[in-house]
Amino acid sequence: MPKYIDIHAHTNFKAFEEDRDAVIKRALDNDTFVINIGTQYDTSKKAVEMTNEYSEGVYATIGLHPIHTDASYHDVEELGEEGKEFVSRGEIFDKDKYKTLTKLGKVVGVGECGLDYYHMNADTVANQKVAFIGQIELASELGLPLMLHIRNNEEDLTTNAYRDTLEILKKHNDTFSAGAENVSHDKNLKNKTRGVVHFFAGTLENARAFIDFGFYISFAGVITYPPKKNDPRKINYEEIIRELPLDRIMADTDSPYVAPVPHRGKRNEPVYVKEIVAKIAEIKGLEKEKVAAQIVLNIKNLFKV
Ligand SMILES: [Zn+2]
Repeated sequence: MPKYIDIHAHTNFKAFEEDRDAVIKRALDNDTFVINIGTQYDTSKKAVEMTNEYSEGVYATIGLHPIHTDASYHDVEELGEEGKEFVSRGEIFDKDKYKTLTKLGKVVGVGECGLDYYHMNADTVANQKVAFIGQIELASELGLPLMLHIRNNEEDLTTNAYRDTLEILKKHNDTFSAGAENVSHDKNLKNKTRGVVHFFAGTLENARAFIDFGFYISFAGVITYPPKKNDPRKINYEEIIRELPLDRIMADTDSPYVAPVPHRGKRNEPVYVKEIVAKIAEIKGLEKEKVAAQIVLNIKNLFKV
């Protein structure tokens, strides 16, 4: 059993092209397993292929990020120069195409998927929802957990991506007979959804609603930063982490983005997940080793890594 598992990294991205293998080895040498996350078809395929390059400790999820349901978004860290290694496109989620990827390597989840109101415009939200529902169905068919990406619009406080995401998930589970895990009105749907919200940035109330629904909450490097001044949504990570039960908490780096202190400002990488775990332990006033062990146990429960 590893000491740490980074449940959400993108070492499959362009940002790691030069030293991908060294980054992964650094994680494995430091007793840290890695789950690489797909954000569209190309990056999902890359993540799956990478799982075959290591005998253990490297896993993948396959999915379509809500921002990639719209063609306007292109991140050079993710995809490189336009049109070179990965292609940016307004992708329509094709369940069967993604399903074939599960045969090519160690796929442990579906996503990242969900709703992103930060990058939204009115008609793209409809596309995001269609892609999200397709991925819930894929996860249900395959019996895999969901890796959720949920991001609020910081300005428009009337919208709430957490509330809307949960509503869609509940609708899916409602298609199952009362209390049954695997008796759905739709014969293709074999399992109720399970999953984790990565890079949690909602309220305590949002977190509790997901936990009550059976999901896990994962925290990223921002929890090591001083609280943002003038944050319209006033996210209080210390309070949220203090209040949530430890057996529902995970940690993720979202590499190459948002490196935790003391690496803030640098390219993030999976081995830094230990800084996030240490911060969770500090906030909870618990021993670091104990918190690390419980988080690994939580991850094994959900992802079967
Ligand atoms: Zn991500």
